[in-house]
Amino acid sequence: MEIKPANNFLRSIIAAELENGTATEVVTRFPPEPNGYLHIGHASSICLNFGLAEHFGGRCHLRFDDTNPEKESQEYIDAIQAEVKWLGFNWHGDVRFASSYFQQFYDWAVVLVEQGNAYVCDLTAEQAREYRGTLTEPGKNSPYRERSVEENIELLAGMKSGDYDEGEKVLRAKLDMASPNMNMRDPILYRIRKQHHHQTGNDWVIYPTYDFAHGQEDAIEGVTHSICTLEFEGHRPLYNWFIEQLPVPSTPRQFEFGQLNLSYTIVSKRKLKQLVDEGIVSGWDDPRMPTISGMRRRGYSPASLRHFCEMAGVSRTEGVVDVAMLEHAIRDDLNEDAPRAMCVLNPLKVVLTNYPQDQLQALTAPRHPNREELGTRTVPFSRELYIDADDFREEANKKFKRLVIGKRVRLRNAYVIEADETIKDANGEIIEVRARIIENTLGNNPEDGIKPKGVIQWVSGAAGKRAKVKLFDRLFNDAAPDRGDKNFLEHINPDSLCVVEEAWIEPSLLEAVPEQIFQFEREGYFVADRYEHSSETPVFNKTIGLRDTWNN
Ligand code: ATP
Ligand code: MG
Repeated sequence: MEIKPANNFLRSIIAAELENGTATEVVTRFPPEPNGYLHIGHASSICLNFGLAEHFGGRCHLRFDDTNPEKESQEYIDAIQAEVKWLGFNWHGDVRFASSYFQQFYDWAVVLVEQGNAYVCDLTAEQAREYRGTLTEPGKNSPYRERSVEENIELLAGMKSGDYDEGEKVLRAKLDMASPNMNMRDPILYRIRKQHHHQTGNDWVIYPTYDFAHGQEDAIEGVTHSICTLEFEGHRPLYNWFIEQLPVPSTPRQFEFGQLNLSYTIVSKRKLKQLVDEGIVSGWDDPRMPTISGMRRRGYSPASLRHFCEMAGVSRTEGVVDVAMLEHAIRDDLNEDAPRAMCVLNPLKVVLTNYPQDQLQALTAPRHPNREELGTRTVPFSRELYIDADDFREEANKKFKRLVIGKRVRLRNAYVIEADETIKDANGEIIEVRARIIENTLGNNPEDGIKPKGVIQWVSGAAGKRAKVKLFDRLFNDAAPDRGDKNFLEHINPDSLCVVEEAWIEPSLLEAVPEQIFQFEREGYFVADRYEHSSETPVFNKTIGLRDTWNN
């Protein structure tokens, strides 16, 4: 696959601004709402915001946009911070919270009321919808729009002190109910929510809307470039209006980019939460999830994710990136570093009849074929071995270059063997293959000139160990599982998880520590599970296969 050079129009814009003096510094922020774990789309936004600050010697803040307490929690706050750090970024100064500016927002709401730019409205949600009009019809002014400044001040204070019930009153900007931009039709600034907040406790019973808070948060923090996804383009005039009306300490400017979408993937916290809540996956960090914590558990490295975000780039329009590009970035990264090891996923016992019963021979194998500095590992060889059942057939044509009765195969890093017979159970299933080693074939071809056709992996029965291995496939079997009116729950790939309870691993893998990655020869890349793996109960997750098996 072709790797595009860094594709980032914002970098060009900012460079030009610094050159012509429109900007004198670069301050960005990553502003997640703590209502879920971060996903691959957020990773793109993180790389963009932190990357721009880094590139221009500026700074990037991490700010929680926590204006909507019912869906937010400390669990998400903690997870998000860990995810940003794990990706390799450090925010400037302390973690920030929109909620620490609540008093300032309120004071500014009072300013708007005093200016005659905001009013308390008593329309019910349903009435308000009616008054709002549609894309083709103008809205109507609320009957409460002409309340006096004094009355509005008093009612807003009453809202703040809890005199009214949820839904009874809202504070709205007084803009233009006929505006073709629906965001400008007297948008809501404050709602009553008698809700405990994870940061401010019960201090507030009114909460600002995202629209009223977002631009002002940036202004308070001196953010110069407020970078957000395209869906907020239509909100820009409103954000600018607030900034113009209010005595804010700085003037952020907003730039939009097309959000990252990936084929076969969902990038929406709400929908990902549904997968978690309905038990379709084991949690936010299920290795099949496109969450940062899921991808981490799957064995994706921070560098490969950053590399992917760079390759996918950012653009002014929204598009869909092929998930194969992500898989390519993962594979590329792992091939460089992953030590090799042998694992047999579907074990079939092989008994070498001419090999001594009690002998355990310590063979040596390189940890990496082209990285000598990674050293070697000891691979014990013994009379009883396991090979993969798929690597054996009683009879086969020439295309099958593995073990066949009467034929030879090389055991990776070990001897050439020849199969003699099979032992079957009462049902006729093969339970064992009897074979012989060909003498003097460690590192040599057989002396009789009959060369083996292929090489297979194996694990010593005496020295190897059982392991649990989880194999994953794409979570969705539809390239665009939530496009249009599709219900993504109907496009779950039923084979996205396969648990192999009794795989056999070579003993060097018992030294694996959680999150360590290996290439299991001929099988793919596997990571020792972050939570479940130990040397007593080894658990490996398949990160990715050696090759793309979807697109061929
Ligand atoms: P979701 O819809 O999944 O909840 P969100 O945009 O509502 O995402 P926020 O917590 O508000 O979630 O997002 C924090 C930042 O991440 C925002 O600046 C947003 O623009 C950015 N972001 C979210 N999704 C994507 C995406 N798919 N691609 C790029 N940036 C994204
Ligand atoms: Mg959102």
